[in-house]
Amino acid sequence: MAYAYDDQNIFAKILRGEIPNKTVVETDHTLAFEDIYPQAPLHILVIPKGPYVCFDHFAAEASDAEIADFHRVAAQICADKGIDPGAGGMGYRTLSNAGEHAVQEVPHYHMHILGGRPLGRMLQPAAD
Ligand code: AMP
Repeated sequence: MAYAYDDQNIFAKILRGEIPNKTVVETDHTLAFEDIYPQAPLHILVIPKGPYVCFDHFAAEASDAEIADFHRVAAQICADKGIDPGAGGMGYRTLSNAGEHAVQEVPHYHMHILGGRPLGRMLQPAAD
């Protein structure tokens, strides 16, 4: 695996404070903010502060502390928003896109948290 991180991507600019964001949670290792084009009533992006391109890059090279913090922040958001089924919420979807087939637009690892409405099946049949 060889990833080259582009520090001009839009989330890198958000982390440097060059572009505003609607922050939901911030910790030493993780930032969560509202997606600018929400696909559901609740659409939050969780990103590590470190320079990781996608999920497998993050899993391979981030520290245990970064990985634990990232997931605990994401889970805490689900709890805070009242969407976690374990506490009676209606559920949510987490996803992350990596690379060309998944149409990853921003090359800084991010987890989408989607909720607030029925989300349908995970994938639609391919158009081609
Ligand atoms: P992906 O296709 O998984 O790379 O998703 C990138 C996501 O970033 C999309 O859902 C965009 O709406 C979102 N996005 C792009 N620019 C911004 C921004 N400045 N603030 C918040 N979300 C953004």
